[in-house]
Amino acid sequence: MTKTHDCIFCRIVRGEIPSRKIFEDDEILVFHDIHPKAPVHFLMIPKLHVDNLYEVDESHQPVLGRMLGLAGELARREGADDGFRIVVNNGRVGRQEVYHLHIHVLGGNAALGSGMPR
Ligand code: AMP
Ligand code: ZN
Repeated sequence: MTKTHDCIFCRIVRGEIPSRKIFEDDEILVFHDIHPKAPVHFLMIPKLHVDNLYEVDESHQPVLGRMLGLAGELARREGADDGFRIVVNNGRVGRQEVYHLHIHVLGGNAALGSGMPR
């Protein structure tokens, strides 16, 4: 059974909340973070809801691989062509705020700080 989720990113996938999209296909959506922590900061999500990396199983592996495989191309296209960082926050200790798995892609011209900016 497919569960309908009311999380904010599922609502973005369904077009109920606007987003500045960078890329979309049948299973992946990529959009700008609403509160960018770097000159380039976008989020990559699987369209199908999964809370975080604790919840993934074998069925998620192809889409997760595809997301990682797309990150460099999209980072370059968005202007982060001299390096970027990927961050995935999971759970309370990881300070995850939105419980729909997402990959942060952060970059720009200047070198990033040593940790995940907050
Ligand atoms: P986290 O769950 O801690 O990895 O972070 C969630 C991220 O989602 C934060 O960087 C927010 O700025 C971002 N965010 C929250 N709501 C939206 C939205 N409607 N559109 C784009 N980004 C969002
Ligand atoms: Zn969701």
